[in-house]
Parts: sequence; structure tokens; C-alpha cells
Amino acid sequence: MMRLPKFEYRVPRSIAEAVKLIGDSGPEAQFVAGGTDLYPNMKRRQQTPRTVVSVMRLQELNQISGDGQSGGSIGASVTLTEICESEIIQRDYPVIAAAARTISTPILRNMGTIGGNLLLDTRCNYYDQNYEWRKGINFCLKKDGDVCWVAPGSSKCWAVQSSDLVPVMVAIGAKFRLVSSLGERLLDAAGFYNDDGIDYLKKRPEELLVDIQLPPTNGWRASYQKLRRRGAFDFPVLGVAAWVKLDQGAIADAKIVLGGIAPAPVTAEQAAQALIGNPLSEDHIQAAAEAAYIKARPLDNTDFVYSWRKQMAKQYTLRALKQLV
Ligand SMILES: Cc1cc2nc3c(=O)[nH]c(=O)nc-3n(C[C@H](O)[C@H](O)[C@H](O)COP(=O)(O)OP(=O)(O)OC[C@H]3O[C@@H](n4cnc5c(N)ncnc54)[C@H](O)[C@@H]3O)c2cc1C
Ligand code: SF4
Repeated sequence: MMRLPKFEYRVPRSIAEAVKLIGDSGPEAQFVAGGTDLYPNMKRRQQTPRTVVSVMRLQELNQISGDGQSGGSIGASVTLTEICESEIIQRDYPVIAAAARTISTPILRNMGTIGGNLLLDTRCNYYDQNYEWRKGINFCLKKDGDVCWVAPGSSKCWAVQSSDLVPVMVAIGAKFRLVSSLGERLLDAAGFYNDDGIDYLKKRPEELLVDIQLPPTNGWRASYQKLRRRGAFDFPVLGVAAWVKLDQGAIADAKIVLGGIAPAPVTAEQAAQALIGNPLSEDHIQAAAEAAYIKARPLDNTDFVYSWRKQMAKQYTLRALKQLV
């Protein structure tokens, strides 16, 4: 049985107290929400914070507010179940509820939060193993080693961004509000992820994700399609978020974002260009899907053969766009 390492557990009641606690505890401290990603990582000794600061009692992080007309906001500690069941999200941002519904299992969705999902550690077959397994291969670049087993000549880690909500947030143009003792920052989801499996976030360790700000829904619609091995529950090995804004029957703007194939979500610009200025018709959808296929370059570090995952980028883009017709 894998055991958690020893750590101090703190439960602040205000944002000010939380950021002070994290600041005072130094680099060996980490926030925790539902713990469904952090605690397994701690058991595998991938992350070993000495102090863990819970964000679950911070009132401001536990609410959904606003609406599609003026723009919505989801607190970082709102659970995935609450998102699936929220009237505001179901009515105005159904793509978020649909993507959240595909995440893990009902029990994990009761614990797991949207903040934890958007800040999920990157994944790789050589990394998501217990300590003894990783020791057996002399570890890897991402933790405790100096070689990348996926690309041995590479100085970069290619572990995969594996959240279902990340491509959706990038596609719809959400913003993330971060607070630390130095003040507040509002970052676009699109620029928030680094293409590096180790340093995968623009967020500084001491910054608290407070909420996710959603744009007004004036004339756009979006969809999400997920490829995974088991329909019941599994991480995405490919996720396609499609977003289009229509104006008098023509596509005025579009975004196709691929998740689960690289350390950061991949925006397929050419796929969007194939749509913009055109009706959402079969031939333009086909052209966009072809462009998404060209852009997708998955590596051999997660489930399924990577060349097949690349082919599926076309099929899942087709599905995502057809859902918007
Ligand atoms: C069996 C299993 C299946 C899963 N399947 C899927 C899946 O299909 N799709 C998917 O997308 N995910 C999946 N997950 C991943 C994960 O459990 C969920 O995405 C969940 O939403 C994570 O949320 P959490 O609150 O438990 O995060 P935690 O584990 O509490 O935190 C995750 C990370 O976020 C940080 N963090 C959390 N909240 C904040 C905050 N407010 N400010 C700053 N930092 C913060 C933590 O420090 C940690 O680094 C799965 C996990 C398991 C165990
Ligand atoms: S991509 Fe390479 S460095 Fe990164 S986790 Fe996998 S094996 Fe390790």
C-alpha cells in the first residue's frame, strides 16, 4: 500500500490568510483542493510538500455567479459535480458541463474541483508510476532523473496536459484570476500553459487561483469531444474543443483547441482559418478537420498508439464541429 509522506495540513478561512500561509511556508508548501490529483502524486513521491494549504473553506472560491449575458464566474473550489448540476452552467455554458461530466467518476467529481482540474500535473507513462517503478528505470527528467525516456535526446519533458476542461477554457476565451501577497493577476487561459511538461503553468507556486471568468455568450457556441480507452472513466488521450461565432449564417470567428497530445493545449490556427468567413457546412468542416490532423503531433507517452491518436484528431474535430451545426 502506498502511504502519504508526513506533512502539515492548514485550513485558512480567508484568501488573505491562505496567501500569507503559503508565502510564509516557502517553496515546500502547496495548495490542495479535492486532493484527487495531489494526494496520489504525494503517495508516489512525485510531489512532496511539507505544508499543504487547503482552499476548500475559502467562501469566495466556492461560488458560481453571473450568467451568459454579462459573463459568468466559477470559483476555483467549485466541485466538478456542482458544475455538472449548476443551472447557470447547464443553460449558458453547456460545453463546460458536458466536458466536466466526462471527467473521472461521480465519486471523484464530488471531490475534484475545477481549479484542481485546470492546474492538473502533466501525465506520462514513465512518470505516473509508483516510486519503486520509477526508481527501476532510474527515474526521468520530470522528477529525480536526467533522461527523458520518451525522447532520450531531448532536454525538455513532453508529459501531456490531460485535463478535459483546459481545451474548453482556451477555446471559449476564459480568464483565470490569481492572487498572491504581491497582488492580483488576470491571465488568459490561452496563454496560461507552457509547452513544457515540467514547468507547465504560468502560475507562480505561491499564487492562489481564485476564479475562472467566463466571457458573455453573445453569438458563440462550443462543443467538446474526448477520446479515451474506457468510456466509463479515463483521462483524455485526445480532447477537441471547437468554438465558433456566427454572424448572419457565416462563421465570423473560430477556434479549434486540441488537448491531451502535448504539454500545453494546442490551438490549430489553420483549422480555424478553414472555417472563418464560411458557412458551417460539410466541406469547410472537412477542411478544418484535415488542418487539425496536420497540426496534431502526439508522442508515444500515454495510452494508444500515437499515430492513431493523430488520425483521431481529424475524426474528433469532425465530430466536435458537426455537433455545432
Ligand atoms: C482515477 C482518476 C481519474 C481521473 N480522470 C480524469 C479525467 O478523465 N479528466 C480529467 O481532466 N482529469 C481527471 N482526473 C484528474 C483530477 O482528479 C481531476 O481533474 C480533479 O478535478 C482535480 O481536482 P482536485 O480539486 O482534486 O485537485 P487537487 O488534487 O487538490 O489539486 C491539483 C493541483 O492543483 C493545485 N490547486 C488546486 N486548487 C488550487 C487553487 N485554488 N489555487 C492554486 N493551486 C491549486 C494543487 O496544488 C495541485 O497542484 C482523474 C483523477 C483520477 C485519480
Ligand atoms: S516526457 Fe520524458 S521527462 Fe517527461 S515524464 Fe515522460 S519520460 Fe519523463
